[in-house]
Amino acid sequence: MNDRHGRTIEYLRLSVTDLCSYRCAYCMAEDGVQKRAHEDILSIEELAEIGEAAVRCGVKKIRLTGGEPLVRRGILTLCERLRALDGLRELTMTTNGAKLGEMAADLKAAGVDRLNVSLDTLRPERFRALTRRGELSDVLRGLDAAAAAGFTHTKLNAVLLGGVNDDEIAGLAALAKDNDYSVRFIELMPMGVCAAFPKERFLSADAVLAAVPALERVGDDGVAELYRAPGYRGTVGLIRPMSRCFCAGCDRIRVTADGRLKPCLHSDAELPLRGKHGAALEDAIRAGAAAKPERHQLSRGSGTRRGMFEIGG
Ligand code: SAM
Ligand code: SF4
Repeated sequence: MNDRHGRTIEYLRLSVTDLCSYRCAYCMAEDGVQKRAHEDILSIEELAEIGEAAVRCGVKKIRLTGGEPLVRRGILTLCERLRALDGLRELTMTTNGAKLGEMAADLKAAGVDRLNVSLDTLRPERFRALTRRGELSDVLRGLDAAAAAGFTHTKLNAVLLGGVNDDEIAGLAALAKDNDYSVRFIELMPMGVCAAFPKERFLSADAVLAAVPALERVGDDGVAELYRAPGYRGTVGLIRPMSRCFCAGCDRIRVTADGRLKPCLHSDAELPLRGKHGAALEDAIRAGAAAKPERHQLSRGSGTRRGMFEIGG
């Protein structure tokens, strides 16, 4: 599947819910999401149908995200349906890790290949304050459970928050020392609730290179610049949507939990997929991929009105 700018689109990020067990201060308002009617959100059958159609169109990788995918009822059935698809190279999931302790083995058995777990701080009090309800120990237990279940190369996502967690960059990076984790630092994007954050919250990923001078560039992994320090088992990744535009290499489309295809994270353009089946659904997915803009205009602010929890990150 190609777009009009010479890019091959083979990565679908499928949001399975806009609900979440946390209320991260940069992602959701404290009072959470306005709960939608059950029928406004794609059913497991519809999600599977979209994934199947996308793979027929040439998608090779699907990431399940949200909101929090592990609070979605039927998530394991969806994983099994998607994993059974010929042509799907990788099924991954981004999770806050709160329920990983109890679900990691089931996710592995359902065919999930790899996990991204969000982890912005290693301090229990700070974790509670940032997520407004989470317990760091749950996530750490979840990471152990994931390793015990056989997950390898787990990616840990840390959003860089100036004045909040920048004093922990070295400590977070050190998680890649004895484990095969890829610890990825992500520049905060001005979307949803954090669009109004003060300037000092938005840190360039250069702060990571300053905090861990031993890091040496070892290559790229998708949109991440990869680094390793001598003696590290794992890697450190920098994801720089703000300080470097990686739109030229963008190979992804997104589908929101209410069934709208977003050709670009930072645009309000959306194509409805609900009610479409078979060839009509494939045509809509191809049209969505073709409609990808050449690049975002983040320097002027995000063009989407949705928060990250509604899109899937
Ligand atoms: N709930 C799951 C989680 O937290 O991993 C999946 C959904 S969450 C929206 C996906 C990722 O987006 C998380 O790693 C989160 O930290 C990141 N994120 C949310 N808001 C962001 C923002 N404004 N800028 C950069 N990353 C953001
Ligand atoms: Fe939930 Fe993930 Fe957003 Fe945090 S970042 S509120 S865990 S969706």
